[in-house]
Amino acid sequence: MSLMTYQHHDVNGHAIALPVGKVVCVGRNYLQHIQELKNSVPEQPLLFIKPSTGVVRVDEAINLPTGQGECHNEIELAVLIKQPLKNAKHAELTHAIWGYGLALDLTLRQLQDSLKRQGYPWERAKAFDGSCPVSAFVPKSDVQDHQALSFQLAVNSELRQQGYTKDMLTTIDELIVHISQTFTLLPGDIVLTGTPRGVAALQHDDQLTLSLHNGQNTLFIIHTKVN
Ligand code: ZN
Repeated sequence: MSLMTYQHHDVNGHAIALPVGKVVCVGRNYLQHIQELKNSVPEQPLLFIKPSTGVVRVDEAINLPTGQGECHNEIELAVLIKQPLKNAKHAELTHAIWGYGLALDLTLRQLQDSLKRQGYPWERAKAFDGSCPVSAFVPKSDVQDHQALSFQLAVNSELRQQGYTKDMLTTIDELIVHISQTFTLLPGDIVLTGTPRGVAALQHDDQLTLSLHNGQNTLFIIHTKVN
């Protein structure tokens, strides 16, 4: 496998002229997912980061870490940033978002549980190489209201996760403003916005279908597999 061949791209397969940066993620942003893992609702958004080395294309076969227990799917709306944001104001956001895609926040769940129990950071469970397969991105101009999007993950033709961005506990704008107070967002960074319920272990040879919808319109459908 070659190193760092990933490049952000649009739904026509064209490269997007942005570097590949960090991925800032939020945990516990959908109530039903918090309940399925028996977690508590955080007082403020629970943030963590995946490095750029975690980012790979989701439409190329997905490689899971071996020998470290279950690796769970977490499908999430991904926001591609195109302008620097530090202590951002809401008015700046319109011009700072390139567009939207989907990502899998791959999570070694048993390892994460063990790290959480010991009070250790989660990076080994969530920030490993290839931990963030991402889709193509749809330009912001194609999305009138990013709180009206929906997305799905089917595994072997069975619907496993379905998310509606209207159900987020912290909205996308609030989340980006909040993130930028701690982590400056740079062009090419991605913000992951949390996963809905339905996380479960991925298996060798699973066939995955990811789709993003804007109201009644399907923005894209991607078929991929787990190696
Ligand atoms: Zn997640």
